[in-house]
Amino acid sequence: MPAFQEKIGRLRPGMVAVAGIPFDEYSSFMRGAAAAPEKIWEAFHSGSANTFAEDGTDIKGHPAILNMGPLPFEDYQDISRPVEQILAAGARLLSLGGDHSIAFPVIRAHARYHEKLTILQLDAHSDLYDEFEGNRYSHACPFARIMEEGLAARLLQVGIRTLTAHQREQVERFGVEVHEMQHGLPRTLHLEAPLYLSLDMDVLDPAFAPGISHYEPGGLSIRDVLNIIHAIDVPIIGADIVEFNPRRDINGMTAMVAAKFLREILAGMVEG
Ligand code: MN
Ligand code: MN
Repeated sequence: MPAFQEKIGRLRPGMVAVAGIPFDEYSSFMRGAAAAPEKIWEAFHSGSANTFAEDGTDIKGHPAILNMGPLPFEDYQDISRPVEQILAAGARLLSLGGDHSIAFPVIRAHARYHEKLTILQLDAHSDLYDEFEGNRYSHACPFARIMEEGLAARLLQVGIRTLTAHQREQVERFGVEVHEMQHGLPRTLHLEAPLYLSLDMDVLDPAFAPGISHYEPGGLSIRDVLNIIHAIDVPIIGADIVEFNPRRDINGMTAMVAAKFLREILAGMVEG
């Protein structure tokens, strides 16, 4: 039996599956994010740090967490299929991208199991282009597809600092709740269940995370992002960490940041 199917059989309701989605074909500027899942796990298991989250949860060997390895999929649209298998087993998914284009097929699968999703997107970019360089599934477009198809009731974006005139129109059109960096970070986020968290590594200031494809200065600190993760007060039904590009990383520092976010989000998910 293929490794993925064997692991599907080991999932139980309430468990959290972690799976890689090594897909970067819809990156507009630079490929490389497909290599991220492996590098994040390497950093997670690195002898230089332990595997505890800040709240005291040990992620390594946790009985409610299963590393599925990479998801098996034929092409971009097919990413939804293995995600649905995980959700059908009653488990939740934390996926490791890959570029941000994967959010559309991943969230499409979640929308079949959860009504009235709230999505919290942490990102420098709103990814709301109707199309980008001729591709409607570009990593610049997933949240336009998600909102068009009515897959979410609310989309909240934090860290945004790149809105074009077109994207401002899209924000209006879809009723997106945007917290732009120019106005500072929101003191509180009024989140509602069920919540999906989509974490684009470029939400961070590039000074903190050079291993990304699109450098957009003026972003969040690592602690800002951790504070947002820790302040989430509703259950997280699914999450992704995307856009880490190992080709641009320096001394594995961005891999380590992604591994830290992995630990902290997982700790929140196994609690919730
Ligand atoms: Mn993005
Ligand atoms: Mn981005």
